[in-house]
Amino acid sequence: MLVYIVDKNGNHLMPTRRLGKVRRWLKQGQAVIVSHAPFTIKLLFETGDCIQPLTLGIDTGYKTVGISVISSKQELLSAEIQLRTDVSEKLTDKRMYRRSRRNWLRYRQPRFLNRKKAISLVPSVLHKINSHLRIIKWVKSWLPVAKIVIEMGNFDPHKLKNPEIQGIEYQQGEQWGYENLKAYILDRDGHQCYFYQAKGNCSEKMHVHHIVYRSSGGTDAPSNLITLCEKHHALVHKNRLKLGIVQFKSLKSATIMNIVNNQLCHKLPTAQTTFGYMTKILRTQLGLAKSHANDAYVIAGSNDQQRLPTLKLLFKRKNDRSLQKQPLKGG
Ligand SMILES: [Zn+2]
Ligand SMILES: [Zn+2]
Repeated sequence: MLVYIVDKNGNHLMPTRRLGKVRRWLKQGQAVIVSHAPFTIKLLFETGDCIQPLTLGIDTGYKTVGISVISSKQELLSAEIQLRTDVSEKLTDKRMYRRSRRNWLRYRQPRFLNRKKAISLVPSVLHKINSHLRIIKWVKSWLPVAKIVIEMGNFDPHKLKNPEIQGIEYQQGEQWGYENLKAYILDRDGHQCYFYQAKGNCSEKMHVHHIVYRSSGGTDAPSNLITLCEKHHALVHKNRLKLGIVQFKSLKSATIMNIVNNQLCHKLPTAQTTFGYMTKILRTQLGLAKSHANDAYVIAGSNDQQRLPTLKLLFKRKNDRSLQKQPLKGG
């Protein structure tokens, strides 16, 4: 267990594992508890500054956000946070209730052009962006975070268009380039097998298949690549299944995450960025299972730090407007 500490002036200090010391401080009145979850104490005596630079890694997501805060030696926070996915549904309900409420009026003056400005983003997307920003603010409110690293989607679009880009992360050889391409194809096809709708019964593991085989001169161009599950992939190679004319579709959640990631980058100009395909390679090298918390740990810059158990958190509505929903009958 970790105990988080703020100093006399409310500045954040490094968390501690030394529970005996904390107990002694509390008993002797040298510290007070300011929060139980996460457990945070405030020191009442003067301390020297002893802050190490901490890095916050964020695995952004449509439904689940993974976060991890690490120092050079240990992980100080690991959490997975569920976002709300009911925003658009709730707004539809709200619209319906408003309609029925207004139907109670005998006459309502027509109102035209009474909106101040056009809304730029739909509320459900806005919720996703604001949730990510709220999470960062929440972490920063009790840990001295110096650096933020965000995963900007699964693949790097600049590198797809221009594979010769120079940079440290691009000097990792051919594997990185191909993993990036694979991540793009899987994203484009929504991590779903081409035969999913027609045949069903897909196996879990997804492969990327060359429509025109490489041996027949097929290229690595995205238009020649498609997502197949392991089972159907094997059948295609045995000529027992035929690919028809392939139409690529794009996934709604992928498009939304693109907007969210771009907006986050805009709002957090000092944050560093990374991509999902790199996270995947590094996570595999570390032998970690796929989870949002593990991804966040890798994104933050994993380096054999002592890990923490993952907190599971949930975004809740601040206000359930059930009282405002129905007009009171006869009231
Ligand atoms: Zn399949
Ligand atoms: Zn194949």
